Amino acid sequence: MTISVIGAGPAGSYSAYLLAKEGFNVNIFEEHNIVGKPIQCTGITTSFISNYINTNADFIVNKIDTVRVYSKNNSLEFKLKKKNIVMDRYGMDNYFLNKALDIGAELNVSHRFIGTRDGQITFKNNGKIISLNKEIVVGADGPNSQVAKSFGFIGKKDNLLGLQATIIGEFEEDVFQVFLGNKISPGFFAWIVPENRSRARVGLAVRNSQDKAYFENFIRNQGKVVDRQAGLIPVYNPKMQTEMDSVFLVGDAAGQVKATTGGGILYALMAAEELACALKNHKSYEKGWKKRLGKSLSTHLLLRNCLNRFTDKEYDQLLEMLKHEKVKKLIQDYDREFPIVLLIKLSLFQPGLLRYISKVI
Ligand SMILES: Cc1cc2nc3c(=O)[nH]c(=O)nc-3n(C[C@H](O)[C@H](O)[C@H](O)COP(=O)(O)OP(=O)(O)OC[C@H]3O[C@@H](n4cnc5c(N)ncnc54)[C@H](O)[C@@H]3O)c2cc1C
Repeated sequence: MTISVIGAGPAGSYSAYLLAKEGFNVNIFEEHNIVGKPIQCTGITTSFISNYINTNADFIVNKIDTVRVYSKNNSLEFKLKKKNIVMDRYGMDNYFLNKALDIGAELNVSHRFIGTRDGQITFKNNGKIISLNKEIVVGADGPNSQVAKSFGFIGKKDNLLGLQATIIGEFEEDVFQVFLGNKISPGFFAWIVPENRSRARVGLAVRNSQDKAYFENFIRNQGKVVDRQAGLIPVYNPKMQTEMDSVFLVGDAAGQVKATTGGGILYALMAAEELACALKNHKSYEKGWKKRLGKSLSTHLLLRNCLNRFTDKEYDQLLEMLKHEKVKKLIQDYDREFPIVLLIKLSLFQPGLLRYISKVI
């Protein structure tokens, strides 16, 4: 069986690696001529990434042990038990790609998937149209998935627009800063992720492209902008279809992204594992990934919908409640990837927090 993986981001390349390892014949098709560029990502994850990479690899840019959150009139700092990892996305994407190539997958760059017809899949390659037999197709082609559109997958997902600049200035090397508030980034948050003392990735996300002024306001006075990036961040839709006959969606194409933070790298890697397991064992991929990740993704979505209703004053109050020492310790110790256990424990220590959240749901 030949598997055509569309897209060589982390979801595509890691799926290709795992599937080739299971003995499938795997072809990767990437629309760009270079894998990993353009970069449209901050590249920060929790330490959970150490399950997939060596955290001393050469594409690790920084390790951060402090998260500082600001609201309009309040702030709160957490020391993380396990450091967050900041990666160079070009390096990370090529790390997963090389794993796939080393085990026998083949790469076709400058191949843009454009559609399907009569049992074939069609690509544009430097102006030429190429059609190949469709056997198994993995749509790992990001938030605007052409695979999802062409095969008529049911369920629409909304996308936020992530805007980011690389800035040369003065930064705290160990501190990931998060800014909450309706005047800063309504419906999301703004971030400063340092690469080192003099260089940081600074960004936010907006719902509409007309709202880009929030970004310009935020980066003003942060330092010298040396690079700008923009990309879509899908909002998880639990009803979205991700499997149809022999076509599967994984990563951003399937909307497998944490709605609280927009982080999708780790969920893409975990979903790739579920895909390889399903194809190997002739089981349902959708059931498999939903069993493992569905509840966490839905909890992130619930929290996001709740946060989106907060006023600036409520953000101030929320940070105040989180200052309770036992609550702070819980947040420091628990991984933000999987929020359910944390929420349950938080409700035991600080019942007011859940009452407060349910008030605005
Ligand atoms: C501004 C911003 C900041 C972010 N920061 C973080 C972060 O700090 N941490 C985190 O975990 N997540 C972050 N994310 C989200 C993260 O980037 C994605 O969740 C992750 O890249 C998903 O991987 P993927 O492989 O599914 O998709 P992608 O990385 O988007 O890869 C898709 C690949 O498919 C290719 N492709 C697209 N269409 C076609 C086609 N028709 N034919 C062939 N190839 C195609 C693309 O060129 C690309 O190589 C951020 C996103 C944005 C926009």
